[in-house]
Amino acid sequence: MDLELDEHAARFRDEVRSWLAENVPQRPLASFDTAEGFARHRAWEARLAEAGLSVVAWPEEFGGRDASLLEWVLFEEEYYAAGAPGRVSQNGIFMLAPTLFSHGTAEQRRRILPPMARGQEVWAQAWSEPEAGSDIAALRSTATRTEGGWLLSGQKTWSSRAAFADKAFGLFRSDPGSERHRGLTYLMFDLRAEGVRVRPIPQLDGEPGFAEIFLDGVFVPDADVLGEPGDGWRVAMTTANNERGLSLRSPGRFLAAADRLTELWQRVGDPADTALSGRVADAWIGARAYQLYTFGTVTRLREGGSLGPESSVNKLFWSHLDLALHETALDLLGPDGELRAEHGWVDGWLFALAGPIYGGTDQIQRNTVAERLLGLPRGDR
Ligand SMILES: Cc1cc2nc3c(=O)[nH]c(=O)nc-3n(C[C@H](O)[C@H](O)[C@H](O)COP(=O)(O)OP(=O)(O)OC[C@H]3O[C@@H](n4cnc5c(N)ncnc54)[C@H](O)[C@@H]3O)c2cc1C
Repeated sequence: MDLELDEHAARFRDEVRSWLAENVPQRPLASFDTAEGFARHRAWEARLAEAGLSVVAWPEEFGGRDASLLEWVLFEEEYYAAGAPGRVSQNGIFMLAPTLFSHGTAEQRRRILPPMARGQEVWAQAWSEPEAGSDIAALRSTATRTEGGWLLSGQKTWSSRAAFADKAFGLFRSDPGSERHRGLTYLMFDLRAEGVRVRPIPQLDGEPGFAEIFLDGVFVPDADVLGEPGDGWRVAMTTANNERGLSLRSPGRFLAAADRLTELWQRVGDPADTALSGRVADAWIGARAYQLYTFGTVTRLREGGSLGPESSVNKLFWSHLDLALHETALDLLGPDGELRAEHGWVDGWLFALAGPIYGGTDQIQRNTVAERLLGLPRGDR
């Protein structure tokens, strides 16, 4: 792995840096868990797209600029360092899009990717069900064959941003006699279609960060099956591996937080408190280690490798790194840090608490690492 940037990558990084310096909103946008904030974040996605910066690693025909994965990592570093807004389109661009690139048809890519890149169509992930979170293969929502497509019925839950999103992707049992991972189909549907009811779930702050989705005979044409009917589990693993292993959480997010943490320590830290300074150093090293690990992943993919169960190692690492960064900052600030949002750490900390849950809990990742990477015996279920 060569860590020197070539001229093209260095030029690209400089261009991104100067565009962000001129365009990142001076004041943070309202949370995308509110109707107003969602609209503002959507407009920000459109602005990024106009500059060719919303999906840099996609092919140009879909709104990208054919950047390499390494350049995408550099883009993300610049994006977070500039304090740019969170990506309201993240489920679409970081999870559905890589799945479309691997399993979608040319028609699906042409139809779905450009409006996603411009923020015109924001996607939600409709996977979890009341009895199927960690054990997603226990899902009960169904897809029943009908002329020209499928009828979806059932209930999904904990769908982030579904309260305001336009469309969703999910897994459905399409073979009524099937069990567990077999007989599932990956389908995309419109959240405003007839038969869909979206019920917002408020978070601690009262804003509808999630929603339940109730489906009652919702028609979905064959054109919106992703991959082959019945092969949904395999397709879903592409989404999950991207969520855990590369695209959803790039190192930029943690490098920026590590730099802020170091500045905070320089301002308020007590050099005599070696335990706390040690934690600052560990968190900073963790962010750098994750950056190098990601360069390794990018190199592996460039050489023809794929994202596999290693993604679970990655997910365990970044979710705990995020917690360490935020908990250390709050300990540096003392009780004031938790009480006063203007320090800029408490919201991030509240979200970091969810890291070991969403995208598959820690216990599930550890099972995957134990069984699929280390070859240890399957534990009790
Ligand atoms: C911030 C946030 C955003 C989310 N966004 C979305 C979204 O957009 N779309 C979506 O579909 N879902 C989303 N989720 C839901 C998330 O994917 C689930 O919460 C997660 O998969 C866990 O499922 P569960 O909540 O049903 O818990 P359960 O599966 O009931 O787990 C409860 C506990 O039991 C443990 N456990 C369960 N099975 C095993 C096992 N076999 N071995 C060891 N331990 C086990 C779990 O690790 C956990 O500690 C989100 C969750 C959060 C917190």
